[in-house]
Amino acid sequence: MRSIADFGQQPSPDQTPFQVIRDALEHLREEDLQAVPASAMGPDLEELRRLGNMLEAESVRRLHRFDSGGGYESTQALTAKSWLRWKCNFSPAAAAGRVAVARELAELPQATQAFADGDISYAHAAMIARTAEKLGDKMESNAETILVTAAKELDLARLRMVTIKLQHFMDPDSVREEANESHELRFLHLSQTLDGVFYINGRLDSEAGAILQTALNALSGPPTPDDKRSPKQRRADALVELARQKLNSGTLPEVGGQKPHLTVTVAMATLANQPGSPAADLEWASPIPAETARRLACDAAITPIFLGPESSQPRAGQTSRSISASQRKALVFRDKGCRFPGCDRPADWTDVHHLKHWADGGKHVMDNLILLCRRHHRMVHEEGWQLVVTAAGNIVALMPDGFAFGAVPP
Ligand SMILES: [Zn+2]
Ligand SMILES: [Zn+2]
Repeated sequence: MRSIADFGQQPSPDQTPFQVIRDALEHLREEDLQAVPASAMGPDLEELRRLGNMLEAESVRRLHRFDSGGGYESTQALTAKSWLRWKCNFSPAAAAGRVAVARELAELPQATQAFADGDISYAHAAMIARTAEKLGDKMESNAETILVTAAKELDLARLRMVTIKLQHFMDPDSVREEANESHELRFLHLSQTLDGVFYINGRLDSEAGAILQTALNALSGPPTPDDKRSPKQRRADALVELARQKLNSGTLPEVGGQKPHLTVTVAMATLANQPGSPAADLEWASPIPAETARRLACDAAITPIFLGPESSQPRAGQTSRSISASQRKALVFRDKGCRFPGCDRPADWTDVHHLKHWADGGKHVMDNLILLCRRHHRMVHEEGWQLVVTAAGNIVALMPDGFAFGAVPP
């Protein structure tokens, strides 16, 4: 432990407490941290956290005196809250919160003591104060003991669990009312920019959020070694997969007399990758690249639209699956899941991929078909990966630079 002598001079007796604190901080700032072992920062951080809590506690204690004694009246501010916004740059919510916490803590001796000792932070003290405010007359001293003891040990998220359980024990109706209020605030924005990109923004109550989280976790699965996606990318993929599986299941209600499905308008020349062919159109989205249209056409219910030379009106043909249901069953039996080397995604999460695309003359026969999960299907079409079947029937993935990625038995 470093002594005060390491930091230079001692405080002189005629200094104000604020000067003493400022001088002490100045001494700390002057210390050359490179000359101190990094491990010494741990105890320093703990001590500074505690001192920070103590400073906040003193600030709240003085705020209570300022608020209750009308200390702001000699200024142009009408309330302690507006004074805090004016002089200390707090947001309206933060200023109101601090005034409410200062008033509530005045009735909570144990929380005030723990705060003043630096054992709990402002955020912890505020959570205890808010719980006491909600419970009103039902807040008893042993409830305060439980909350203060928990606040000394737990982070905010866990302390919140304790406050809800305590609240439920003492006043179950208030917990239900809060849950109902939270439920009323639910919303989901799905907005499309001029670039065709979709932005999602929303709020779910805790039960709905838990349902979505559980489904997304199940669809994300544990990351595989070759999975370079970030957690947020995996979550985004899982949400789309959730919608896709529901669309594919055919159990959604009909819209306009049809089961909902994606509609792609694409020229045969585009599907056949002919140079100079137009981009494809996907309903609700901006024009999509040819390779994306080829991937979607690889395993999709296709409604061909023929544009006859003598007719300007498109003529819709019959919807026909390029892959029959029995063929898909046989593929699931043979492949079990994604055939990309090293991938263990189950068959439910896969598309049928034509090793040679049917638009290039590839046949809908078992030798030309494999199951690929959405991510690997995308890598093979849009990201330049190639799949090669060896003479022994193994599948080898070639990276965009042409090097083999791995091989698996057939
Ligand atoms: Zn494909
Ligand atoms: Zn895969």
